[in-house]
Amino acid sequence: MDHHDPSTWDAEFAARVRATREVVSALHAELPRWGLIVWTAGNVSQRVKGPAADGSQDLLVIKPSGVSYDELTPETMVVCDLDGRLVEGEGSPSSDTAAHAYVYSHMPEVGGVVHTHSTYATAWAARGEEIPCVLTMMGDEFGGPVPVGPFALIGDDSIGRGIVDTLRESRSPAVLMRNHGPFTIGKDARAAVKAAAMVEEVARTVHIAKQLGEPIPIPQDKIDSLYNRYQFVYGQHEGDGAPEGEN
Ligand SMILES: [Zn+2]
Repeated sequence: MDHHDPSTWDAEFAARVRATREVVSALHAELPRWGLIVWTAGNVSQRVKGPAADGSQDLLVIKPSGVSYDELTPETMVVCDLDGRLVEGEGSPSSDTAAHAYVYSHMPEVGGVVHTHSTYATAWAARGEEIPCVLTMMGDEFGGPVPVGPFALIGDDSIGRGIVDTLRESRSPAVLMRNHGPFTIGKDARAAVKAAAMVEEVARTVHIAKQLGEPIPIPQDKIDSLYNRYQFVYGQHEGDGAPEGEN
């Protein structure tokens, strides 16, 4: 099987690509639903695990460039390799594909990536200021502050490298790329979309808190216990538990 040539895919792999197209298409509808995007400036991708154990035949599914959200269907999604080259689909992949691909090829545990320019998170990115961990939900979801990544321009691998270098140093699934906006990761695309919604929510709340005073930091040991409880106790039974603020 040549992962670059859809005509050589076995039925199992073709079905996996097809299912991923459906997931990624449906998840794009979550971005306008949660107020995370304007026009076409946001994208969701998910990894398709290839047959090679080392990940060298993995692919990703992402939206095509410049297509409006209500025109997105499983068929219009595009499939790329982890160098960002088009493998299957019409139209050109999102211009952020190289950044997504870089994350998948350098962080094998990541199964989903989301990028938006959501207003409050992007406002923190415009100042180059990390969001301090001042809410228990931040301890739960981010395990600390939401970090800022370097300034980087589209066109080479500098955005992807900035995301990976920053997130490797952090427990946060979200990074605010300086002067640009948030990128989030997760075990799959759904988890990355959740992180995109949560980073906007905490960016908004902490911004509002700062208008009337200085938010109170949570001590590191308390952040650690929030994070461990949420990620390792409730995380094993998704939907069963009632993490603080959920359900
Ligand atoms: Zn962007």
